[in-house]
Amino acid sequence: MPETPEQSAAARFDTVLIANRGEIAARIQHACRELGLKAVAICSEADREAPYGSTADSFICIGPSSAAKSYLNQDAILLAARLAGAGAIHPGYGFLSENAAFADAVEKAGLIFIGPTASSIATMGDKISAKRAMMTAGVPCVPGPDTALPDDPATIGRIALEIGYPVIIKAAGGGGGRGMRVVPKADVLHEAIALTREEARKAFGSPSLYMEKFLEHPRHIEIQVICDDHGNAVWLGHRDCSMQRRHQKVVEEAPAPGIAPDIIQPVGLACVEACLQIGYRGVGTFEFLYEDGAFYFIEMNTRLQVEHPVTEMTSGVDIVQAQIRAAQGHVLDLTQGDVTCEGHSFECRINAEDPETFLPSAGVVTHLALPAEPGIRVDTHIHAGYKVSPYYDSLIAKLIVHAPTRAEAMARMREALAGTEIEGISTNIPFLRALFEDDAFARGETDIHYLEQWLKLRRAA
Ligand code: ADP
Repeated sequence: MPETPEQSAAARFDTVLIANRGEIAARIQHACRELGLKAVAICSEADREAPYGSTADSFICIGPSSAAKSYLNQDAILLAARLAGAGAIHPGYGFLSENAAFADAVEKAGLIFIGPTASSIATMGDKISAKRAMMTAGVPCVPGPDTALPDDPATIGRIALEIGYPVIIKAAGGGGGRGMRVVPKADVLHEAIALTREEARKAFGSPSLYMEKFLEHPRHIEIQVICDDHGNAVWLGHRDCSMQRRHQKVVEEAPAPGIAPDIIQPVGLACVEACLQIGYRGVGTFEFLYEDGAFYFIEMNTRLQVEHPVTEMTSGVDIVQAQIRAAQGHVLDLTQGDVTCEGHSFECRINAEDPETFLPSAGVVTHLALPAEPGIRVDTHIHAGYKVSPYYDSLIAKLIVHAPTRAEAMARMREALAGTEIEGISTNIPFLRALFEDDAFARGETDIHYLEQWLKLRRAA
């Protein structure tokens, strides 16, 4: 008798190596434990004292402090997985999470990569092929061709005129807010192309560029999806991540305020359709710019995202557990009809950085107090005495709140921020406290440029 998907899933793996660090390593370990799976933690020399090491079933130091020699060292991670008897690797976010070659190496080593296939990662990792796949699936995209720019300056000039200035030049292999240049008018087009091409060649190893309309006052709205290996996919609602500094998200919320269900519904369904068309598995996020009532796809993240908790709070779905279960081969245990969105959630990224200059701040946390009232969740790996190292991203905690309405959730975040005390290092908490007192933010009247403008005004005051 053939095995049911549930029976074969049970045999896929019972031990997960978590190829990451910090709050997300702790979060994934927690999900593994709740699913009855063993968790293997890894660390660099700088993270030997990480608290999630002592709670893991095994804890393996895989290399020196430099990420290139540890968290990005594919061979060392695969060796650790073999030594610890792991059957699967969870890449978290950042590091190797969107590296198609790593996903491939994991599968070739006979392990399961907790994420989509290497080919889905490669398609979505190239912004031009991603745009083409989305256009084919009927997902609305930013006006502009789904092909790389040619070399011929006259043709490039014609494409820009057809789109209409201002345009934005983007590296096909770009990421992390880099490899983009806005071109306000024709006389600076060719210089912008040359500069961006050179940057793209150096930073991403490919000079391939594309061009699209530059939207002047959009919001950043994204859709979370989850898919299994059996042709089922659902979307779990939407998030607004417009509060950005240097293209980096600072505060996220779910749902995005002021978006009528009949506007977002077809976009969510198009995302689900795109997942089915490309054979996507696991969790992913479709990122859109939203301007004057219309959505424009910009990219897909083929991994778990930092801001996944706001969707967990409003949908009630444990996204990390669902992701691991999908990798085990389980059939998705919810249909679109089961998905609801209740109340409102905010997340603040607490970074170890100066609240005025935003320069990273390393050192020992001498005092820590975290809020624990109902409706407040803190995802973190730090404790009093924890040493924040200068080697990695400055994210040290995520403060997440949930309440029946947006106004109540904002009030709850003010309380949560007031109840958070971190001493010994600088953090962005004073800046977040001020932001949650802002009237335009409270009214939901912001776009992706709002935070930078707000900071400029504050500095001038
Ligand atoms: P990355 O992969 O580097 O994060 P994205 O394509 O997601 O790049 O874009 C990052 C940010 O750049 C967006 O959140 C938005 O703020 C801005 N951006 C990207 N494309 C456009 C566009 N066509 N018009 C206006 N802003 C854009």
